Amino acid sequence: PASRSSVIIVGAGISGICAAKVLAENGVEDILILEATDRIGGRIRKEAFGGVSVELGAGWIVGVGGKVPNPVWELAAKSSLRTCFSDYSNARYNIYDRSGKIFPSGLAADSYKKAVDSAIENLRNQQETDRSGDFSRDAEPPSTPKTPIDLAIDFILHDFEMPEVQPISTFLDYGEREFLVADERGYEDLLYKMAQDFLFTSEGKILDSRLQLNKVVREIQHSRSGVTITTEDGCVYDANYAILSVSIGVLQSDLISFRPSMPRWKMEAIEKLDVMVYTKIFLKFPYKFWPCGPEKEFFIYAHERRGYYTFWQHMENAYPGSNILVVTLTNGESKRVENQPDEETLKEAMEVLRDMFGPDIPNATDILVPRWWNNRFQRGSYSNYPAIINHQVVQSIKAPVGRIFFTGEHTSERFNGYVHGGYLAGLDTSKALLEEMRKEKERNSQNQSFL
Ligand code: FAD
Repeated sequence: PASRSSVIIVGAGISGICAAKVLAENGVEDILILEATDRIGGRIRKEAFGGVSVELGAGWIVGVGGKVPNPVWELAAKSSLRTCFSDYSNARYNIYDRSGKIFPSGLAADSYKKAVDSAIENLRNQQETDRSGDFSRDAEPPSTPKTPIDLAIDFILHDFEMPEVQPISTFLDYGEREFLVADERGYEDLLYKMAQDFLFTSEGKILDSRLQLNKVVREIQHSRSGVTITTEDGCVYDANYAILSVSIGVLQSDLISFRPSMPRWKMEAIEKLDVMVYTKIFLKFPYKFWPCGPEKEFFIYAHERRGYYTFWQHMENAYPGSNILVVTLTNGESKRVENQPDEETLKEAMEVLRDMFGPDIPNATDILVPRWWNNRFQRGSYSNYPAIINHQVVQSIKAPVGRIFFTGEHTSERFNGYVHGGYLAGLDTSKALLEEMRKEKERNSQNQSFL
């Protein structure tokens, strides 16, 4: 290799870019960012669809309006990113059955309350079992929802955020409001703005050799004296330190091999985190046939199969006249549609819409199905800490191994799974590395003075 960098950052998502920026601003200029794809942004990604810009990954700035400002909300303000307020809570009053009838709001509210109570009860039992170590309680299965409406509510409660059941640090710290990003420049504009602060750009393009795109890291060798990184195209890079920002799904896969291999405590911690798959399917129509008044942005389809095209949103608030619907699938259903042709998915979605709105609605003219699970640079959408996870596991996830430091949303104990989690993780990791570099310098100068 021609030269040796101080730090190589693997991955140019928000955590990697943020970490690189902090290092550069603190005098560590000889950094190198290696990114597998042809762009920065990672899971923050817009795509042109149906005449507007849609967000395949992160869509909301979650946690706004509290006492402490959300750092991502502040970045968005600096970028004057266009956003619109989203209120999920009404979704429960727009639940359709298969014959297109909306469940009466009283019934929906009752079912919702019952589901919340039972989820709280389950969680309490689980925590009790965990504390007492008496796992015989596990023998009692929690009551499982059976009717379509109960299944739909269960899906909303468990596959999305559930602040009614468990306090969510994001809401506690930053507030409970959520804003949908609806800007042609995309959510990713925040990353470009950050990158511009420390990388050379011209006419909106990053032209800085410290960012290398299409570089798939396959091997990391590490020793007491440094790290050597090999990419899929056979290039080799040396550095004093590495920061690894790839997702938890990638860490669980065999994309990157380590020499020597990661210690057992590290591997075990990585295996403990769950990977969520979250898929927003976009559908474009010639005209709209769904209600658009106040409190109608979100609606729910109740089917006897849990999570089957359950959660819907229209994009009229974000982009009036765009005639776009979004349906969200998760986990098993996400994986299923990722593995089938999009025409099949379109057919299924149209059947569901005809159940809700009748046979006369027009066919969608276009469909967009993101594939976060099958993407070997992602392997899922975001990390999920199991309801009961001890603090030690999180510490092990983020602890450095020799000269390899770890960052990414999954290393954020309070905000994992969110954009601000990735951002704050980048800050945290770069600060820890700067401290380590300072100590190393001190050790070296002490050794020198002994000589
Ligand atoms: P990433 O963005 O994944 O960055 C890691 C980078 O590493 C990627 O660019 C990847 O290409 C690269 N990489 C991987 N392997 C290699 C390799 N071997 N060599 C080199 N580079 C590699 N958050 C919110 O706050 N609000 C939301 O509404 C929201 N919705 C979401 C919806 C979806 C569908 C998804 C997928 C995520 C959503 N999130 C949301 C979560 C949010 O997007 C992430 O938490 C955040 O963007 C993660 O940033 P990161 O830097 O940790 O990881």
